[in-house]
Amino acid sequence: MGGLFGVVSKEDCVTDVYFGTDYHSHLGTSRGGMAIWGGSSFNRSIHNIENTPFRAKFDAELSNIKGTMGIGCISDTEPQPLTVRSHLGQYAITTVGKINNLDQIAAKEFSTQKSIHFMETSKGSINPTELVSVIIDHENSFKEGLLKAQELIEGSCSVLLLTPRGIYASRDKLGRTPLIIGEKEGSYCVSSESCTFANLGYSFSYELGPGEIILLTPEGIEKIAPPRDKMQICAFLWVYYGYPSSTYEGMNVEVMRNRNGAALAKGDNVKIDMVSGIPDSGVGHAIGYSNQSKVPYGRPFIKYTPTWSRSFMPQNQDIRNLVARMKLMPIPEIVTGKSLLFCDDSIVRGTQLRETVDLLYRCKAREVHIRPACPPLVFGCKFLNFSVSRSEMDLAARQAIIELEGKEPESIAEYCDPSTEQYNCMVDCICKRLNFSTLKYQNIHDMVDAIGIGREKICTYCWNGKEL
Ligand code: SF4
Repeated sequence: MGGLFGVVSKEDCVTDVYFGTDYHSHLGTSRGGMAIWGGSSFNRSIHNIENTPFRAKFDAELSNIKGTMGIGCISDTEPQPLTVRSHLGQYAITTVGKINNLDQIAAKEFSTQKSIHFMETSKGSINPTELVSVIIDHENSFKEGLLKAQELIEGSCSVLLLTPRGIYASRDKLGRTPLIIGEKEGSYCVSSESCTFANLGYSFSYELGPGEIILLTPEGIEKIAPPRDKMQICAFLWVYYGYPSSTYEGMNVEVMRNRNGAALAKGDNVKIDMVSGIPDSGVGHAIGYSNQSKVPYGRPFIKYTPTWSRSFMPQNQDIRNLVARMKLMPIPEIVTGKSLLFCDDSIVRGTQLRETVDLLYRCKAREVHIRPACPPLVFGCKFLNFSVSRSEMDLAARQAIIELEGKEPESIAEYCDPSTEQYNCMVDCICKRLNFSTLKYQNIHDMVDAIGIGREKICTYCWNGKEL
């Protein structure tokens, strides 16, 4: 998915950019980058973070970089930030999102301007951030360029653009990803995740609305373009991607997870000895479940963090499965003979969860009940890029539907509706395939209520296929 961070300050801000960017490491696995404005040019650095954490890669360079303004990113896809010199001046740019019509926009550029070219990435594709910079450079100002990018791009694209004047921050048109402003004496920061604020001394100042553009300078926030009316912020930020200490649209991630888990427990009458969360994002939901059900919370297995510290997995599926297996250590003394209930954020393919459950049975668990914190995932996301592929046909729910129907049905609307027989058959099928004792998913209404910002503002496409 990726995350952005930037600082403007009256003093050197390199350390803040470094730590603030690093605090987005749970959002991406591919590339990390920083660009610092040094007064006459940018000091820019990008590293591969697939096997080494961001901080370890940038640590050695830090003492040589100085500057009072900078941006950084954790990217799941392309190398960024890019530095550019155009008729608008020098700038550095970084983006988060997914440009679905990238090829069409590029083709239009080629057909109207023969002199245009894009650098090819190692995979032969166009760097989406470069495409955004080209769109911007066609216009007469950064404001016009950022608005043009919002107009042309299908999917989503939030942008930080560092200029000698300050940082332009542009939230994607429907606000699928957040951009939040923090402030402290002499400095402002802009961040995808507000969990960056506390330890760097910032306090919440402002959250951009959908499509809103601001210019951040050490003197304050200048409004460049107003927010749009409609919002479709990603519900998965609360369910899975967001860090527990982050808050978007006034709702903290951990608080939402506790509320969501409590709602899951209401009306659930399964007899169990212990509630637990699949680390890390299942834990907040499980604590809510435990508090509501009055069944004690416990840790039947522990994540081995000294060397497996990152919450995301490598890109390769086989290595990812191996890492997932090696990371979790069961405690047989707690598991043996017990009926355990686990909250997990979601079930994507279900392969890792099945392996975890098999491990618990090998440790002589009596029963293993699974309670995902969101409804069955039925549609792949069209709006954000994820490091872990969520191709539609790989989803456990889609696999179950194909098994039940013998082929991909023309309509899957009934399978998205918990009141139908088809939905119940699909859940039973997933439960059997993954070897759970029972399986009960959260329903969309309780999940959206737990977020609590108004259901019309929340994207729920991956559960019901509905979009604005
Ligand atoms: S489709 Fe799902 S993952 Fe994608 S933005 Fe919507 S809620 Fe988030």
